[in-house]
Amino acid sequence: MSTKIIKKGDTVQILTGEDKGKSGKVLKVFRTTGLVLVEGLNLKKRRIRPKRAGEKGQTVEVATPLAISNLALFCKTCKRGKRIKVQAVKDKKIRVCTKCSNPF
Ligand SMILES: [Zn+2]
Repeated sequence: MSTKIIKKGDTVQILTGEDKGKSGKVLKVFRTTGLVLVEGLNLKKRRIRPKRAGEKGQTVEVATPLAISNLALFCKTCKRGKRIKVQAVKDKKIRVCTKCSNPF
């Protein structure tokens, strides 16, 4: 899937890996690297150093970008992540589900 297909605000589902099946909202698309940052997904633990002496450092979980090839747009009709195709309708390009043909 090309980065042109996914937009900020879309709901996507992870197709492979630890988080397989989970879905979330797209926060950012990195077109040059083909990565997508999804809200609450692909969390990685990060240590935060204490800002002042005497304070304790913290461990927080932050969302890290995922490869677009591991994602599919979430189809509300199919209730799962599906591959999509881009169809031209009256000079307008719309994204539709490859299974149910409903637009996203
Ligand atoms: Zn569908």
